Amino acid sequence: MEKLIFNFKSSFSKTKTNPKHILGGKGANLAEMERLGLPVPPGFTISTKVCDLFYKNKKKLPKIITRLIKKEIHLIEKNTKKKFGDLKNPLLISVRSGARVSMPGMMDTILNLGLNDKTVLALEKKTLNPRFAKDSYRRFIQMYGNVVLGIKEYNFEEIIENYKLTKGVILDTDLDADDWEGLIKNFKDLIKGKTKKKFPQDVNEQLNGAISAVFLSWNTNRAKVYRKINQIPADWGTAVNVQAMVFGNMGNNCATGVVFTRNPSTGEKKFFGEYLINAQGEDVVAGNRTPRHITIKGRLDANVKELSMEETLPKVYLQLKKILNQLEKHYKDMQDVEFTVENNKLWMLQTRSGKRTSKSAVKISVDMVKEKLISKKEAILRIEPNTLDTLLHPTLDEKVKKEVIASGLPASPGAASGKIVFSADEAERLNNMMQDTILVRIETSPEDIHGMHAAKGILTSRGGMTSHAAVVARGMGRPCVSGTSQIDIDYKNKLFKTSEQIVKEGDIITIDGSSGKIILGEIPTVKPEISGDFSKVLGWADEFRKLKIRTNSETPLDTKTARDFGAEGIGLCRTEHMFFDEGRILHVRQMILSKTIADRNNALDKILPYQKNDFKEIFKIMSGLPVTVRLLDPPLHEFLPKSEKEIIEVANSLKLTEEEIKIRINELHEHNPMLGHRGCRLGISYPEIYEMQCRAIFEALVENKKQKIKSIIPEIMIPLISSEAEIRILKELVIKIANKVQKENNIKLDYLVGTMIELPRAAIRANDIAKHADFFSFGTNDLTQTTFGISRDDSGKFLNDYIENKIFEIDPFISIDKGVGELVALATEKGRKQNKKLKLGICGEHGGDPKSIHFCARIGLNYVSCSPFRIPIARLAAAQAALIKK
Ligand code: ADP
Ligand code: MG
Ligand code: MG
Repeated sequence: MEKLIFNFKSSFSKTKTNPKHILGGKGANLAEMERLGLPVPPGFTISTKVCDLFYKNKKKLPKIITRLIKKEIHLIEKNTKKKFGDLKNPLLISVRSGARVSMPGMMDTILNLGLNDKTVLALEKKTLNPRFAKDSYRRFIQMYGNVVLGIKEYNFEEIIENYKLTKGVILDTDLDADDWEGLIKNFKDLIKGKTKKKFPQDVNEQLNGAISAVFLSWNTNRAKVYRKINQIPADWGTAVNVQAMVFGNMGNNCATGVVFTRNPSTGEKKFFGEYLINAQGEDVVAGNRTPRHITIKGRLDANVKELSMEETLPKVYLQLKKILNQLEKHYKDMQDVEFTVENNKLWMLQTRSGKRTSKSAVKISVDMVKEKLISKKEAILRIEPNTLDTLLHPTLDEKVKKEVIASGLPASPGAASGKIVFSADEAERLNNMMQDTILVRIETSPEDIHGMHAAKGILTSRGGMTSHAAVVARGMGRPCVSGTSQIDIDYKNKLFKTSEQIVKEGDIITIDGSSGKIILGEIPTVKPEISGDFSKVLGWADEFRKLKIRTNSETPLDTKTARDFGAEGIGLCRTEHMFFDEGRILHVRQMILSKTIADRNNALDKILPYQKNDFKEIFKIMSGLPVTVRLLDPPLHEFLPKSEKEIIEVANSLKLTEEEIKIRINELHEHNPMLGHRGCRLGISYPEIYEMQCRAIFEALVENKKQKIKSIIPEIMIPLISSEAEIRILKELVIKIANKVQKENNIKLDYLVGTMIELPRAAIRANDIAKHADFFSFGTNDLTQTTFGISRDDSGKFLNDYIENKIFEIDPFISIDKGVGELVALATEKGRKQNKKLKLGICGEHGGDPKSIHFCARIGLNYVSCSPFRIPIARLAAAQAALIKK
């Protein structure tokens, strides 16, 4: 039979499957640490396969599994010389969830399981530490009550807080054994009241309940939301880890902590972490006590007086340091580690690759290459292209005066402005209305994930650099300021107070996650540039990639940005945008509405110099590189006058009546403009428009040449071709104008003529079209629309239903669909067969999507073209595609 339960010590054949798929991330790494000889409390992992069995067995643990679990518990008992449920020396265990990838949407861990009214007395006797025993028991009841029995955490907190008030103390650590004893009774009463059942005293029932709760947590709403955001399949399931407890809460030579081997925010090669003396795991992230620094340097840099672990537990610190270095060498990656110290003995409880900001990811990759820990290839493969987006995010303009109202910890870099909201739901609601928000919470919990995703930034008043808010924000690339104790949040009245002022829901603030500053109002931002480690990584990417990267751009500003970001040409320069400009729109309208060819030519003559100047400027910026110019594509009615004033203006200029203009506008009306009189169909009906555009391109080339500006190679692209005759006729038109301009100026010009493949027929008959084309550029936006028969602009209404019902795995306008991809591949093959020199590229939105870029590399396109800010992402994705391709 297939093995379903794995002791941390059991061997696992890695050649067959990735151990994480079976053991989950936490389990696989616990076993790996055990194998490395590190101090790991004994335990075992119930595999992800059991999750499936659990659901198939009506959400109950199959008998066979309970039997196997008993066996494993025996092994722990032997190892620790304690006994589960024993009245002399009781074994306590933790039950921990652990999917393939770490999921903050999942169940919280249950600690101290195995305590009941009797074993707690045994623990007390055995350790001679009644406070510790009672504290552990009340924690267990609290966690079990919350996680397994579904009683909200605040019910327990309220009981503790009220008790502390009456006793007149502030900290939990001020409570003694007797206090906890009373609270335990209150907790049990609470549970009895809420569930109508007594708190379970049978330790096996406790264990069963806890394991079942982990499996059930796989399908909670918040886990589902997290999976959706992160595209994690529902059938992966979670594993469960059961492990002997070690205690960080037995006194002052005990502690618990979290540490990253490098700084997850900046990437600096320094330990970065927090610990608490006399505490259990959850205390560090929960935020009710302020955690302290791990290293002396860390606390000095932060200007903190409270002693670091390096100072309070120097021996254990040295041992930890050694292990951290060993783990990083072993995994060849920055590790995020959890540990506990019991009576000066160090125990390792978790290690995993640490979540990090993109800035940190880039720096760590570059440093690790320098340290010879990884190769350039590995460095390239390690960075998730889409996360580079945050490096391209604007930062606060230094020159603007700012009213800083508070500051907290710089938990996740980047700046964001928005209206403040105090709940995740409100952030989501406003986001749906296209409004930017900053989510303000005392602290966040997994229930807030959807709001953290919807908000532009996150601000908390509690919690450190490793708090839930900080970790999740860094993972999502959201700016975050945590632990801002200078603000006092009042959920009831929807406001927060600083010492100076009151800020209310809806007020706009700016947070700077790089400095921790909270600023009133919206602060302008400045464009980032690519330098340092970032440019180094992209340089390496360029060494590996085979695809060229071009940009979609039609303004000098975008073209300049794109070139700065590394664009190797323009893959799509749309000319219609150049028509909308205020100075020209009247002439464009004249051209469209004129009744005679003479009038039309007149208007075109006026547009020509504008177009020419646009081209001259863009060609100059892209000098030395190819530029694909697409001739006019949209239906003419898009340019028509709408207001009465505009209509009168055109009428007067054409010496026509208003009535005549209105009739003409009516004539031009289309029922389905997407499939109407547009693209090359315009060129067929009104060749003089395309002639003017070609003349503008060629004359721009001539004039630049005369000014000794290094030329570009124009690639003239005819849109929306579906048949051979269309391209044949229009190519002749281009050649005719080229010849004319060359003759007039006595200059020889190089140029290519090609088409956009954006209709299924064009893809299917690509061999015919390739006879007349020097290049194809796949216009995958339109190709997706026409292949599915779905209008992108109207798809918003049902797209979500399609994704929810798994008809679409992902929006086909974001990542290229299989069917559309097949058309692209077919056209590539047929086109190349016909014309070996055919140049092939993609210029739809997909050109900046890493998944689609992999596809383009696989079928052998020459380039992808994307918007300027996606270029660094595309450079990296193209390198990854080249490296992963077999
Ligand atoms: P998460 O996935 O939320 O990090 P974990 O399963 O890692 O949850 O548990 C959270 C914390 O609980 C750990 O960091 C650790 O401090 C504590 N913990 C878990 N198991 C044990 C154990 N066997 N002994 C002591 N503390 C534990
Ligand atoms: Mg953990
Ligand atoms: Mg198109």
